[in-house]
Amino acid sequence: MSIEQEFLKYVYLLYHRGHLTLLSGNVSMRVGDEVLITPTSRPKPFLTPEELVWIDLDGRVLRGSLKPTSEWRMHVAIYRRRPDVGAVVHTHDVLPTVMAERIDTSILSEAEAYLGSEIAVVPYIRPGTAELAEAVAEALERNNVAILKRHGLVAVGKDLAEAVNRIEVVQDLAMATLYATVLSTLAR
Ligand SMILES: [Zn+2]
Repeated sequence: MSIEQEFLKYVYLLYHRGHLTLLSGNVSMRVGDEVLITPTSRPKPFLTPEELVWIDLDGRVLRGSLKPTSEWRMHVAIYRRRPDVGAVVHTHDVLPTVMAERIDTSILSEAEAYLGSEIAVVPYIRPGTAELAEAVAEALERNNVAILKRHGLVAVGKDLAEAVNRIEVVQDLAMATLYATVLSTLAR
């Protein structure tokens, strides 16, 4: 299986688990000094290896005929600040986004081990901008997950398995916090 096919397995999984919508969210993986990244404006479940884009750490397209995601600045800004990071996943997961700082990270015992950090919360900044890229990269200098207010979620990992798992853990934490809150009001 090629690197592109292996990468797409995770993109499809993220879509079918409901973390990505047809056109929102983006995924990248670092290979040496190059970054394999999803293209802009292409339906995620139908992406082919040929539609993926290879860029360098300045965002220049090395291979591929499509444009990279409009959030490419965020991906390269993170790789530049975190040499240990091999994959970046950005989703528009609704529940963690609306709950943001209200998520209780202590509610599921395994979460701390999987996340390896707190969940950073980044104030709203217009998507696709250099300002957002810098703010997210700064928030992820000491954290592995960030919630972007009114926008979505970013998780990093040494590889795609670790980054994708962190997205799923944050989604679980948001759900668990919501369930616990609702149940505590019912018990009154
Ligand atoms: Zn986004």
